[in-house]
Amino acid sequence: MTDLPDPVRRPQPGQLTFAAPRRGKPPKHLADLDSAERKAAVEEMGHEGFRAKQLSTHYFERLVDDPDAMTDLPKNARQDLVSGLLPTLLTPVRELRADAGATIKQVWRLFDGALVESVLMRYPGRVTMCISSQAGCGMNCPFCATGQEGLTRNLSTAEIVEQVVAGARSLRHGDLAGERDAEEVESPLRVSNVVFMGMGEALANYRQAINAIRRLTDPAPDGLGMSARGITMSTVGLVPAIDKLAAEGIPVTLALSLHAPDDELRNELVPINTRWTVDEAIDAAYRYYRATGRRVSIEYALIKDINDHGWRADLLGEKLNQRGKGWVHVNPIPLNPTPGSKWTASRRGVEQNFVERLRAHGIPTTVRDTRGSEIDGACGQLAASTA
Ligand code: SAH
Repeated sequence: MTDLPDPVRRPQPGQLTFAAPRRGKPPKHLADLDSAERKAAVEEMGHEGFRAKQLSTHYFERLVDDPDAMTDLPKNARQDLVSGLLPTLLTPVRELRADAGATIKQVWRLFDGALVESVLMRYPGRVTMCISSQAGCGMNCPFCATGQEGLTRNLSTAEIVEQVVAGARSLRHGDLAGERDAEEVESPLRVSNVVFMGMGEALANYRQAINAIRRLTDPAPDGLGMSARGITMSTVGLVPAIDKLAAEGIPVTLALSLHAPDDELRNELVPINTRWTVDEAIDAAYRYYRATGRRVSIEYALIKDINDHGWRADLLGEKLNQRGKGWVHVNPIPLNPTPGSKWTASRRGVEQNFVERLRAHGIPTTVRDTRGSEIDGACGQLAASTA
């Protein structure tokens, strides 16, 4: 239990890691299980099956895991059910605030000492949570702090879900500052959007990520009852996994981290490109759109003098239009600084030109408002140091 993670070897440039090192499993948790499995687990513990639903209501609806608050459960059953099915998975290590309290980054310690981060952000009319699916990442993109760390391990379903539940609890306690809209004042405060844009490549931890999406979208009390449309799966472009996701029948939004429209540069910026090329990744994104009807996002971190040339904007526009119209939009992201990186964000005028060139091709393009860069909470900055 108290073993610290083995030191992870930093990957060599371009090296990809798919298989997470084998480690002990996190304790089993209610959120790992579907409703039939929960009933079976509760019965196995010697309790009546309907207790599973009561426990689920506490966790997913009331956001409660304190046995003393579960007054509808017999006193002697409470502690037993909580220790058996609601073990502590995430221990807060640090909490950092930015944007006058409208952005909160949380660093968590997992049962084996591994660290992960999540970020809660309030925007007008919505609350977005950015969550981690792996401790570290094996995809090794050179401009991303997480990628430079290497892969420590996959998160369990419940470790992924618990980040959102923790965010929902912070919201309910009024921890997150910022304007609420009229609707939110009347209805309970909820996490409306979840993006798999924290640490890790979620599609490389496929089963757990899909189960987590099911728990987030299952109607209460089986899950959090979120709309699949509010969930964004972001990927480096694992083509077979994108096709698998399209066949799941859960219409989440797909974001493809492209960052370059040509293979020569993308091989360097997103090393998975040596497995699946720009065209193969864009084709998979288009198939995803065709299968789900959900407009795909193309992520493009603008890096000064590296990928921000006008001709690259034109090439990207042409490649997207070749597949069809109206199926995609582009999200340029000003590069966030990461330790030891020689790269910086593009100049404002260059960024503007890049955006205008894409728009001239008829591609809806919006620069991502990145939050929390001063607390290392922005895209690509999550490296979970406790220093
Ligand atoms: N593995 C997933 C999630 C990564 S984080 C993926 O690759 O899509 C979400 C987005 O932030 C990705 O598009 C990623 O490429 C981008 N990103 C990574 N480092 C960044 C940085 N330093 N500045 C801006 N965006 C960055």
